[in-house]
Amino acid sequence: MGIRDNLELVNKRIEEAAAVSGRKREEIKLVAVTKTVDIGSIREAVGLGITSVGENRVQEMMDKHENLKDCELEWHMIGHLQRNKVKYIIDKVSLIHSVDTTALAREINKRAEKSKKRLDILLQINVSGEESKFGMDPGKVRDFLQQTESLKNIHIRGLMTIAPFTDNTEEVRPVFARLKEIFESLKTNGYEGADMDYLSMGMTGDFEVAIEEGANIVRIGTGIFGARGQ
Ligand SMILES: *Cc1c(COP(=O)(O)O)cnc(C)c1O
Repeated sequence: MGIRDNLELVNKRIEEAAAVSGRKREEIKLVAVTKTVDIGSIREAVGLGITSVGENRVQEMMDKHENLKDCELEWHMIGHLQRNKVKYIIDKVSLIHSVDTTALAREINKRAEKSKKRLDILLQINVSGEESKFGMDPGKVRDFLQQTESLKNIHIRGLMTIAPFTDNTEEVRPVFARLKEIFESLKTNGYEGADMDYLSMGMTGDFEVAIEEGANIVRIGTGIFGARGQ
């Protein structure tokens, strides 16, 4: 199947999963994960309606951003971000999904201030306490929010997680459900500068379960572009 058919199927599956939780297709943002994908294929996806792309490496995002200047695209940083590289993407990125330390938040705030902007970020949470070596412990989120309240050039817009890889998607349901719980509890006890608007969870193998459990951003690569050559 080509990108057109893949995308059609992904959109249909998003719509069906959204219906399970009483929502509409338009309430779920699809971020097409374009890491390792060639420019021609990305252009094809843009021609088919993709408006947001996700990259996990700074250099690759910079190169592609340059090559796709003529496209109206939102760029999402979804991978681990080193502090010394924030400056390269600060004027390119719409949303950073992977903020997991106060040091990184402070660096983003500093660079955003220099660029005279307020940048949207998500906190990456390591819900299952294994698999991913990145992401903050769920028990540290409140401290994080308190410590970053004074940072006026970042806007915390929600939470992100990467579920453990498994063939049995039902195993990841509790992980997504737990993040949604944390999300809702933070929504009720508001913090200055933090709004719980986005819940970024779900990839090709598990996005339907994630949506059923409340995700409103899904990050899908393989399901759109096919298997990545490594
Ligand atoms: C690669 C990646 C994805 C997309 O993975 P697929 O399984 O190809 O859909 C989503 N989120 C993050 C953080 C990734 O690194």
